[in-house]
Amino acid sequence: MDCKNLQFSQQAIRGMFETGISEEEVRTAIASGMTTAEYPDDHPYPSRLLMAAGSRSFLVVIAEDTTTETCLIVMVYILDLDLENKETTMNCVICKTGEMVPGYATVTLQRSGTIIIVKEVPADVCQDCGEYYLDEPVAAKVYAQAEEAVKRHAEVEILRYVA
Ligand SMILES: [Zn+2]
Repeated sequence: MDCKNLQFSQQAIRGMFETGISEEEVRTAIASGMTTAEYPDDHPYPSRLLMAAGSRSFLVVIAEDTTTETCLIVMVYILDLDLENKETTMNCVICKTGEMVPGYATVTLQRSGTIIIVKEVPADVCQDCGEYYLDEPVAAKVYAQAEEAVKRHAEVEILRYVA
């Protein structure tokens, strides 16, 4: 069916604004996109799921009223194709953009007059801001080492990480 009239739902408008997808891109998606799912029994109008073919992959849920040739854009959203990659290359949550790379960090902890510096702690280190992230077993060992130093009432203790 040709969409003589286009209507956008509130959800669609919000989705488009959020992702920067234009009305024109949606129109192109309807004309040349691939239908990935059809729901002919949907009420009040049959609907389908379209995948836009272009530089950007996004999905459009469209309901078609054949009597008035009106296409109602129900939903517009971007496909998160980076989902798999995110598990292998994480980004820093502090600076948002830096890439986390396995390396070593110097962890400085302080409690009641004792400063503990633990060197060469294996960590994921942000290449931009230097923030580090420790895996749970590593963090537990660093804490244990630091607790020992506190018990010794050391003022400043510089330790090497013990795996
Ligand atoms: Zn960072």
